[in-house]
Amino acid sequence: MEKQAGLQLDFEATFGPLAEIALIADADRRIVFINKAASDAFGYTLAELSGKPCREIYLNSEDFGRVGELAQSGDANRSNRRFEFRRKNGEIFSAEVMITPLYGIGTAHAGFLFIARDMSDQLALETIARDAASTLEDAIESISEGFALYDKDDRLVICNNKYREIYSHSAEAIVPGATFRDILSYGLERGQYNMDGTTPEKWLEERLARHLEADGSLLEQNLSDGRWLQIAERRTRTGGIAGIRTEITDLKTAEAATRAAYDSVAALANSLSCSLVESDKDGVCLYANDLAAQWFATEPSGLVGSRLKDRFHNAESDGSSQQFKKALAGERSQLEITMTFPDGIRRDVFLEYIPKRDARGNISGVITFAIDITDRKATERTLADLYAITSTRELSQDEKINQIIRLGCAHFDLPFGIIGHIIDDRYTVVRVECPNGEIDAGRSFSLGETYCAHTVRADAPVAINHTAQSELAGHPCYGAFGLESYIGAPILVDGERYGTVNFTSPTPRKRPFTQTDIEIIRQFADWIGHEIARQKDHEALMHAQLRLERIASTDDLTGISNRRAFLERAATEVARFRRTHQPFTAVMMDIDHFKSINDTYGHATGDAVLKQFAETVGGALRAIDVFGRLGGEEFCMLLHNTQIEEALVVAERVREMVTDQCRLAGIKERITCSMGLAIALPGDVDFSSILHRADNALYDAKASGRNCCAVNHEDATFSPR
Ligand code: GH3
Ligand code: MG
Ligand code: MG
Repeated sequence: MEKQAGLQLDFEATFGPLAEIALIADADRRIVFINKAASDAFGYTLAELSGKPCREIYLNSEDFGRVGELAQSGDANRSNRRFEFRRKNGEIFSAEVMITPLYGIGTAHAGFLFIARDMSDQLALETIARDAASTLEDAIESISEGFALYDKDDRLVICNNKYREIYSHSAEAIVPGATFRDILSYGLERGQYNMDGTTPEKWLEERLARHLEADGSLLEQNLSDGRWLQIAERRTRTGGIAGIRTEITDLKTAEAATRAAYDSVAALANSLSCSLVESDKDGVCLYANDLAAQWFATEPSGLVGSRLKDRFHNAESDGSSQQFKKALAGERSQLEITMTFPDGIRRDVFLEYIPKRDARGNISGVITFAIDITDRKATERTLADLYAITSTRELSQDEKINQIIRLGCAHFDLPFGIIGHIIDDRYTVVRVECPNGEIDAGRSFSLGETYCAHTVRADAPVAINHTAQSELAGHPCYGAFGLESYIGAPILVDGERYGTVNFTSPTPRKRPFTQTDIEIIRQFADWIGHEIARQKDHEALMHAQLRLERIASTDDLTGISNRRAFLERAATEVARFRRTHQPFTAVMMDIDHFKSINDTYGHATGDAVLKQFAETVGGALRAIDVFGRLGGEEFCMLLHNTQIEEALVVAERVREMVTDQCRLAGIKERITCSMGLAIALPGDVDFSSILHRADNALYDAKASGRNCCAVNHEDATFSPR
């Protein structure tokens, strides 16, 4: 007990002031000392606990046993454990306990020193902290986004499972303490990300740089499985980085679908051969397709946001305002109008205004379709003109062809129009329409020097909009004439190649040639071919007619006018006489004793005499005099503007010439003739009366012994013999 009391004193001095619980037990583990802190903690005085077994203060007897074991082992460090104790008032508290065996002098084992710290307050704090942490964890887990918090050294502090789920390939690397770079690298190696063409190194550096910016801006990330994330990263107050990942795959898919739908609608709009514009109620352009932009000499984006009406220089677009208003009032309306567009081209356009309604059915703007009908209009006009030219009876074929060329120049708006006739490889200009007489008909080229060589080779229409930009830039014709635009077509006449018709200009075309233009020039070529064929037919016909007429009016044997032709000419002379009172004399001639020539020498010799006679007399007359064979060996001549006296002189000379010159080999007899003269008299209505008088005079001449001239008595003032 002494020893115990001694100990007790020492204990108070040593452990009394300790803030920790100090308790000393003897070898039998009965309490011998507690300090003030212990008394406070347990709620017992030293006197109340003195001699009591330590077991009494433990909540669980097993703990007591274990503390004993620890004490026996003598390992102070390992004996540091937390146990639960019961206060006097029944409360349980937890304390961290350190047990050290005590050894007295000469005594193997004197007791135990038990130092403990009441942990109840700390535990409460820990509980609060733990609760707070789990609340935070719950909160982090409850959000549907992936959340990760990195500290200022960029090491992962905490993240939710969603974060790990999102980066499933990297999940194993996503552990607290891992750096962001490590986690990224791990994911990269396992194909977590869609790098979109860049190298992993570059991708990693860019991603890290962006991560460290942590400015809260949104970043889109594509994973290799096609998912899309939106990432927002922000600095925390302690210098770390908090990041939230939202899956936006559906959004992106919808976005892509919307874009694809828009693109396909835009592609559709751009594939239309009409211009398409959507405007709001004020006429401000919201959408324009490519063709519309082209008419306004800009890009579609250059039209959006502006009023198209303001882009016309004059008031030409006024007519369309009315229709626009109608559309705003809900009425679909149409209009044909001619306008010069900002690209400088004048167009006939068909406009259709369609009211545009929003989801609630209210009119929100107007959609305008415009179709370029310039070509159609021009074609209609040209075809109507072509029809008028080709169907009229008032123009000659020549004039028709000229007008077709002029029509072509106007239709194609090209100054030069040429029809070329091609024989072998020689091209000769046969018709030409040009502003200043630069080219003459009759000019001839080697076919190869003309663009028409291509038309001939193609055996079809050829059109060139801008020679300098075509494969013909090196063509000799381009070098010589600098013709920039050309349209030409082959001409066939009666199925045979004749040549070409072509229209050209030294300036390139503003409006490129269209398929319709090709059809038009084909029509021109067809009609020109047709007209040339008709012209050729006509010429052939005229030729044949002339020949026929000559045949019909010529005496076969002598080659001079036959009876019919002679009487026709005589009728003309009578008409003239009646009109002008210019005198003329008819001279009837008959070969003397012709029958006997026939009888003596044969019919053929008779024919030869007739020929000789006609030749002799014909040669003696003026071109203006008329000479014909009336039949057999009877001839007649009309002496133009000749009085009877003069006529008699001529007749006598002719008679003498016959007598002198009309000789035939083998005929002994002289060939002579008798003549009867009669002058036209005011009473002569037609030639028959004059002929009759001349015949009478001829009879007189025969009666007077032949080879002489006699004048008709009715008008004769004298007789030669
Ligand atoms: P006259 O001096 O009285 O005129 O006597 P003529 O013999 O000439 O008389 P006539 O008029 O009776 O005879 C004409 C003859 O001319 C009759 C006819 O056989 C002949 N004759 C008529 N036409 C031709 C012809 O084309 N060729 C030839 N060889 N003879 C013809
Ligand atoms: Mg006769
Ligand atoms: Mg006779």
